[in-house]
Amino acid sequence: MIVCKFGGTSVADADAIGRVIDIIVSKREQQPVVIVSALGGATNQLLDIAHKAANGELLVAVQIIEQLRDRHLREAATLLAGTPDADEVAHDISVTFDELAHLAEAFRTLGYLTPRSLDTVAAIGELLSSQIVAAAFRQRGFPGVYVDARDVMRTNDFFTKAEPDTDGIASAAQQRIIPLLQQGKIPVMGGFVGATGSRVTTTLGRGGSDYSASLIGAAIEATAIEIWTDVDGMLTADPRIIPAARLIERISFDEAAELAAFGAKVLHPATIAPAVQLGIPVFVFNSRRPEGKGTMIAFDAPRLPVRAIAGKRSATMVKLRSSRMLLAPGFLRRVFEVFERHRTSVDVVTTSEVSVSVTLDDTHNLAAILQDLAEFGDVSVERRSGVLAIVGAGISDGGAALAQAIAALGPIPVRMASLSATGINFTLVVDDEQVVPAMQRLHAAFFEGGAT
Ligand code: ASP
Ligand code: MG
Repeated sequence: MIVCKFGGTSVADADAIGRVIDIIVSKREQQPVVIVSALGGATNQLLDIAHKAANGELLVAVQIIEQLRDRHLREAATLLAGTPDADEVAHDISVTFDELAHLAEAFRTLGYLTPRSLDTVAAIGELLSSQIVAAAFRQRGFPGVYVDARDVMRTNDFFTKAEPDTDGIASAAQQRIIPLLQQGKIPVMGGFVGATGSRVTTTLGRGGSDYSASLIGAAIEATAIEIWTDVDGMLTADPRIIPAARLIERISFDEAAELAAFGAKVLHPATIAPAVQLGIPVFVFNSRRPEGKGTMIAFDAPRLPVRAIAGKRSATMVKLRSSRMLLAPGFLRRVFEVFERHRTSVDVVTTSEVSVSVTLDDTHNLAAILQDLAEFGDVSVERRSGVLAIVGAGISDGGAALAQAIAALGPIPVRMASLSATGINFTLVVDDEQVVPAMQRLHAAFFEGGAT
């Protein structure tokens, strides 16, 4: 059994859904469970409808409802024309949007939204896309069966970010999904959507379909989870900055987590943790290029000094010098309490006997932070900073890679350097405008000389 999840761009229209069917059909002997996102962009529009209506802009809300209704009807008609399902699916789509129009009126009258009502609206995208995709399988002669995510994805009632009840999901999956697979059927379920024990609709939070895939994979003890998206996989660097970036064929969960913290947007590792913890590998594939190798994210990966390089611009570096720090237990705690008090998380940290330097992404409360820090010593700020991350489980093995990284930077001044104790991320702070050239130099040194 495997779980195959298709993101919004992979089910954006009838053509894309056609590719989904081809991909799944080629994997039938592996007993795939299909999980789909909403048609690309639909969730944003649904939430927009709710907000506009509650804001009194009912007309605009209704216009978006009609756009979305037409889009769903059009794609369904293209896929299902002439099949026994066509009328039924079209009817369901229309009823759903009629109900949404009534909800929008209610939101207008109330003038506010609750998290619970937002989930009811947001879930519509996946509930419809999964019905359309299931019927599209049948139109092509394959036994697609729609599974209502609310019958399987049991959650608590933390609306808009509901937490899964993994035991409940496992037993529901045993009842609702496994028998279908045993009968040779292709279950198709919406991601992102869940329900409480009393079957009130919930969602797992934005982007939650990967999480759904991982939870279902864990529940049925799948042999693999495939995340089908619109990029080839994870790359050795952001290809917009480094056109020579290469596909990473295999990466460990921890390495992927470090990269995600640096904005690698392919998927958020937290969402695949339930599967990876059980030893189920997660693959990222491109639904437009299904022949590609993709990236495998597993608990472990062969140890390399450098797996990938990431960078981010516009960080702010705060330096605190204090002679009082000398031999003072609890000093760092008091310094970090300042950041905590102002709800600001620190990113890179280095300390010496007389100074502490940190970088921040969020500078909303910088003025207040600086004022509080000034009580400990001299504070200075460097706003135009950037952070580079050189990520690899073997980064500190033997020190050669560290030396190579520093050497590769050549004349670019390093403002801070930090090697995580787990030895998986070598972080360097440079001036903001040096981030791109530094990434180019590092990538060339580690990946373009055949030195992977
Ligand atoms: N459709 C949902 C969203 O846009 C969930 C997902 O696509 O993962 O957030
Ligand atoms: Mg998505």
